[in-house]
Amino acid sequence: MKGLMMDFQLTLPTILKRAETYFPHQEIVTRMPDRSFHTYTFADFGKRARQLAVALKGLGLAPGDRVATLCWNHYQHLEAYLGIPCAGYVLHTLNLRLHPNDLGYIATHAGDKVVIVDRSLLPLWEQFKDRTEIEHVFVVEDSYEELLAGANADDYEDPRLDEDTAAAMCYTSGTTGMPKGVLYSHRSTVLHTLGEALASPLGLHVTEKETFLPVVPMFHANAWGYPYTCLMVGAKLVFPGPFLDPETLLDDFEQQGVTITAGVPTIWMGILGMLDKEPARWDLSSLHSMLVGGSAAPRAMIAGFRQRHGKTVVHGWGMTETSPLATASDYVGEFRTADEETQLDVVAMQGLPLPLVELRAIDDDGNEIAWDGEAMGELQVRGPWVAAGYYDTPEQADRWTDDGWFKTGDIASFHPKGYVMIKDRSKDVIKSGGEWISSVDLENALMAHPCIAEAAVIAIPHEKWDERPLAVCVCREGESASPDELREFLAPNFAKFWLPDAYVFVDEIPKTAVGKFRKTALREQFPTAPVTS
Ligand code: AMP
Repeated sequence: MKGLMMDFQLTLPTILKRAETYFPHQEIVTRMPDRSFHTYTFADFGKRARQLAVALKGLGLAPGDRVATLCWNHYQHLEAYLGIPCAGYVLHTLNLRLHPNDLGYIATHAGDKVVIVDRSLLPLWEQFKDRTEIEHVFVVEDSYEELLAGANADDYEDPRLDEDTAAAMCYTSGTTGMPKGVLYSHRSTVLHTLGEALASPLGLHVTEKETFLPVVPMFHANAWGYPYTCLMVGAKLVFPGPFLDPETLLDDFEQQGVTITAGVPTIWMGILGMLDKEPARWDLSSLHSMLVGGSAAPRAMIAGFRQRHGKTVVHGWGMTETSPLATASDYVGEFRTADEETQLDVVAMQGLPLPLVELRAIDDDGNEIAWDGEAMGELQVRGPWVAAGYYDTPEQADRWTDDGWFKTGDIASFHPKGYVMIKDRSKDVIKSGGEWISSVDLENALMAHPCIAEAAVIAIPHEKWDERPLAVCVCREGESASPDELREFLAPNFAKFWLPDAYVFVDEIPKTAVGKFRKTALREQFPTAPVTS
């Protein structure tokens, strides 16, 4: 022993062992492709995860080899979450919503050797398999079962990995440039899990008493780490399988007594719409909180869940590069007893950093911005679960500062109490006459209009001001709104120069593979627009 404390490496076998030893009877439920529920216990899960680890060893892979998954959210995917890293290999979750060309590029860049794929996704796999170096293919509910059947869980031995060994990798779903890979270490994953479990002052009370349903896909930044957190604290897990439509999710919440759930705002907008239409159809008395992240949670949506359905929304911010959870918003201190409107303002912000995460924002002159709720700068982050670089992408090294911070590419302000407010992606912020206009603030305000279902605001070129905002709106079913009406609606809350010059109405806003507004596509669709002022 060289240090003051034991040399105890932070690795995932510790979480696997804890889950099966202390919560053997806790359940993991999956909505299967035939819509029935499959239920088994943490003990069953642990055995099969160890079987997977043993079976993968039998393939003759080298330590650190990549094992990909192309799967929806289900118990077999959870087995991969533990079985792969606990054998010393790297779990690489492929995003099944990407184009086959991107998947081919990503699987090759990562050096994937094995893939575990859902039967329903075989047609997708067929489209890019020839471009990869993958040697072993295991199909869920098929050859994957044979792989496990040939392995004895009792043969599993903790490989006693160094905590800096890679455990998992994800590629960013960036809307420009080639996807970039982030490698998570065992240490960063264990610490992120602890950080998430300990973040209760920020509203994320995941404990053994809870039933957690991750709507966020397991291929989106490791389902924000929740599968690991639930295993560590012993919470019941419910997986929705391939069914992410609001109706089935609401059925899942009711039938499985889900208490906490997590996903991107577009999912919650759909669910809120359905609940508003048929408020009495589901008994959601068990459900108390939902973590919303991945893009800004509109204040009107947070208010809708709280005021009409009695549900708590916790707003989180993070990135693939930050494992991903870095902040969460809940009212602490004086906000705990503040009035409803103030509390809504607080939850609409992205919140305070999780323990061990640090934030700052730097303006165009290289100075740290003041916490005055006004100044904007590029958000930078550091902490034990923030990546130190992209995998095999040296040309992106300038995303890290010399003094050890990651430049997020997000534009942010800070509330005087330290809450971060994400104003935009730096690529999306609108620069009008040298001043920044936050597209996110305008979008959230527009989505509070009763006729507007979705709104995205983009910059369009302008001769005098360089850029001006254009609002692209989707009306709710059976509703319509005029540009004048929307302008009037926004006017009381924004400086005049912030107000969009034009409003266009579309049937749908294009989305990225993880459900965010795809503004690059909108900018192509609207290179210029009718500018009236
Ligand atoms: P990804 O790596 O695909 O999860 O994307 C990370 C990016 O999503 C961040 O850099 C933000 O631009 C955006 N994002 C994530 N959470 C939020 C949030 N709560 N509010 C606003 N933007 C968010």
